[in-house]
Parts: sequence; C-alpha cells; structure tokens
Amino acid sequence: MMIVAPVQAQSPDQSADISADEVTRTVRTLTLDQFEGRAPGTAGEDRTIGYLIGRFQALGLEPGGVDGSWTQPVPLLHTRLGKPDALDFSINGNGMALNPGKDIYVSTLQPKDRAVVDKAEMVFVGYGVTAPERGWDDFKDVDLKGKVAVFLVNDPDFAAAADETVAGKFGGRAMTYYGRWTYKFEEASRRGAVAALIVHETEAAGYGWSVVESPQGENYGIAKPDDEVTSLALQGWISGGTAQKLFDDAGLDLAKLRVAARKSDFTPVPMGASFTADYPVEQETVQSQNVFGKIPGKARPDETIIYGAHWDAYGEGPPDAEGRIYRAGANDDALGIAGIMEIARKFKSLPQPDRTIVIAAWSAEERGLLGSEVYAQNPIYPLEKTVANLTIDVLQTAGKAKDVILIGKGQGTLEDDLAKYAKAQGRVVTEENLPERGLFFRADHFSLAKRGVPVLLMMSLAGASDLVEGGRKAGQKWIDDYTGNCYHAACDAWSPDWNLDGAVQDINVMFDIGESLAYSERWPEWKAGSEFKERRDASADVRR
Ligand SMILES: [Zn+2]
Repeated sequence: MMIVAPVQAQSPDQSADISADEVTRTVRTLTLDQFEGRAPGTAGEDRTIGYLIGRFQALGLEPGGVDGSWTQPVPLLHTRLGKPDALDFSINGNGMALNPGKDIYVSTLQPKDRAVVDKAEMVFVGYGVTAPERGWDDFKDVDLKGKVAVFLVNDPDFAAAADETVAGKFGGRAMTYYGRWTYKFEEASRRGAVAALIVHETEAAGYGWSVVESPQGENYGIAKPDDEVTSLALQGWISGGTAQKLFDDAGLDLAKLRVAARKSDFTPVPMGASFTADYPVEQETVQSQNVFGKIPGKARPDETIIYGAHWDAYGEGPPDAEGRIYRAGANDDALGIAGIMEIARKFKSLPQPDRTIVIAAWSAEERGLLGSEVYAQNPIYPLEKTVANLTIDVLQTAGKAKDVILIGKGQGTLEDDLAKYAKAQGRVVTEENLPERGLFFRADHFSLAKRGVPVLLMMSLAGASDLVEGGRKAGQKWIDDYTGNCYHAACDAWSPDWNLDGAVQDINVMFDIGESLAYSERWPEWKAGSEFKERRDASADVRR
C-alpha cells in the first residue's frame, strides 16, 4: 500500500463514558469527501487506513495486526463477465437458448480470462444440505465433479407444512446457514462441481430477481493460490420461470421434486440436461487491508475478545439528487467503527483487562464479508481461544429505545448476556422480526461464527425498535426511511438530525458484555441445536 500520513487524530473526550459527541466526530471524519466513500483498493482506502491507525495510536492501543503491525493484507479478486459467446441448456439434444440476466444470472470467482462450462451434466440436488448434526445429507454418495449442481433456495423446512417430518428441523421460517446461497456455492465447490445454479423464488430467497441481477456480472472474492481457487467456473441463479420450463422440457416434475427435497431420504436427480456457457472475464487483484488495535490482557493475554466493525463502504457512484457521488456509509458502518473506538477508549480508562481486547476494522464487508473471512482463514489470534466476537453494523439514529433487537435467537449464550445488560439499562430484548432474511449470516461476525467463535451482532435493521419517543411505529419509520432511501446510497450520510442516544445505549451494552468477559474466566457457548456448536466443542480441551 501507499504510505499515507495519518489524518490528524482528534484529542479524546476526557470523560470515559461512551460519548455521542465522540461518535459524531468519528462518523463525520470518516465520511469526508477525502475518503472517497471508503472503497477497498482506492486512494480513499489508504487515507482511511491512515486515519484508523492514527486513532488507535491516539487511544493508546498497541498494534494488533500481523507481525506487530497495525494491519493484515486482504487480497481481493474483482471479476466482471462480458457478453457470453455461448449460453444455453440442452435437453435430450434440444437446445434452450438463455437470455443472460433475464433467464439466468451468473458470475465467477475464478481468476481466469474466460469462464467456460462445456455441456456439463446437470444434477438437481434439492436444498443441497449436508448437516450431520441434523441427520441430513442431500448428496448421499453422488459425485458432482465436473457437473452442474442445481439447488433450491432456503432450508429444507422453509416450505414444509406443520405435519411434515422436516418441519422445524431447520428453524422453521427462520433461515439457517444451510439456506444461504453462499453456503450452497461453497458446498458445490467442496464437491468439485463446475457450476452451481439456484432456482430463484422470491419468497424463499427473500428478494426479487432485480436484486439477483443488480451486480450485472460483477463479483468480488478473496484472491487465492491456484490450488485453492473454487471449482466453480460459474455460480448464480436460474429465474423461476426458466427453471420451470427446463424441468418441464426434461420431463421432470419440479413441484414433486420440491416435496421430495423436503425428506431426508432425498437423493440427487440427474436431469438429462446439460449447461453450456462461455463468457469473457475482466479480472484484477486488489490489495486491501484489515486494521487492528489491541489492549493486551494481563492474566491471560492469549484469550481474546474481538470487537469488530467494517471500515469499507460503497465508494463512488453516479450523483444523487443533491449531487453527492460518494456512498460513504455514515451509518453503515462508520457508526460501527465509531462505536468500537468508543469501546476501546472506555477500556483504556479501566485497569488492564485479564484477557486481550482486540479492536478490528474489517475491509470489504460490502463485497461479501471478505476482510473478516480472510482473517478467519488466517487468524492472528487463535480462534479456539477467541472468547467472543462482538460486532456492530448499523445502529439506529432515532433516539433512545425501550428495547434492543436480538439477531439469531437460540444460537448462543451471548444472547443471555445481551438480555442481562439490556435489563440493567431498563430495556428488554425484542427478537428480530424477519428471521427468514437470515441477517445473522450477513455481517462480519459470521465469518468467525462459521469457525465456532461465539458471536453477537448489533444491527438495528433487524426489527423496529420500541422508541421512547413514538414507540415501535417510529422505530419502523426509521427503518423504512433508512432502508428505502439511504441503504448503500449517497444518502447514508451524517445528519444534524441524528439522535444518537439509542446508539449510545447499544454501544454501552456491547461494552458491558465485553467487560464482563474481559475480567473473567467465562467462555460463552453455542446453544444445543446451533449449526456452529460442534465446531466449537471440538476444541473444548484448550479452554479448560
Ligand atoms: Zn454494514
């Protein structure tokens, strides 16, 4: 990276309390035009990294990155598909031409100049789930090497009636990780498939086709050594209507197969169809960085509590109505960065903790949780002795709330800590209102959760807060305004109308939970039935 002098750090507030003014100053700084909307791999990144390091230094943190530095490299692969030279299904020798972006949407995460699938046999794999803890394996012994895996979206029990044996096995309407498209692509790659295609359904996916095709063939992944590159030349979605026609033409009853896929004795179905595609690919590797500061533990420095937020936002875009070109993510997630800075400042006012506190500013969350994923694949602090990851990603800015929103109910014991410390503030816990959207799998904490680290996510998008002024109706209005107008857009800017009293409450709860762990020997755990429990329990010995 370019060496850039740190932006002049502000002198911290003298009081140790979490301060709305300090939060505001951090957010206003990070959203200045000089940071260019904080897109990974830009000059705006270099300035952001410089600023973060300057702040960590001013707070008195020690470097927490690789080899005594402040950072960890995050090599990113950026790809963009051009117009395909070939794109069709073939059913019993009859071609079915496909309109790219309309009938099918694909992208690639292979660093190659062409993405080619040549008459590869298609296999319907149902929901494509391998969940030993639930006694479920959709693949049985079917070999997918070189084939195209065709998936249904969401969990095997998403569409099940109450009297079906699968009902509730995968959290009912709430999505488990097995329901996410990311899981399905990972599973297809683990099995050596050449392509993975998910049948789109708006309700089960949680969003319409326009969301699926909005990246227009662009994708970001972690740049990997050759032997670790995904087996998938292409990954993506078939539109519902096109899938129906494909199955009809192949003499398969999609409705019946959907029912069959809800049973644990399901076996993959060769479709008698093949997929051909040949796309030119523009690809580049971009160097980005995660940033870390730490407060070393006194008694057990090898045990760490990691606070996380993502420094990246959406960079430059077309001008909005006010002429703003930078999508600087004031709330998402400059506010989270400001929150963990405040938490660090408060910890520094206390006696040295027994365990190490790590403050992590992740890169490339908006590109698919990539900075945190790089970290989880190359952890600086052993994951088995990472006590917890506490993540802040979007806080509400509409004032004090009578409740706090819990995401991922039933997953781990940190939800009990959340209830305890919210109660101490006179607040109650409200469960997220749309667990089928799978928000629990859509922030950086999840990269660590996947490897068994206990996590807690604070994200105000998960349900309407019961605001002191205006109740839940006002809380819903805030969400509707934010997600409807500002999410990932230039309008996600700081405003003098922000009321950070609720955000400060949330930051305080996250501080309290971390503090209760920092001076104790307690290890949070996953609850029975969590898909992450087995992974954690496997390393239980090192925590005795
Ligand atoms: Zn975010």
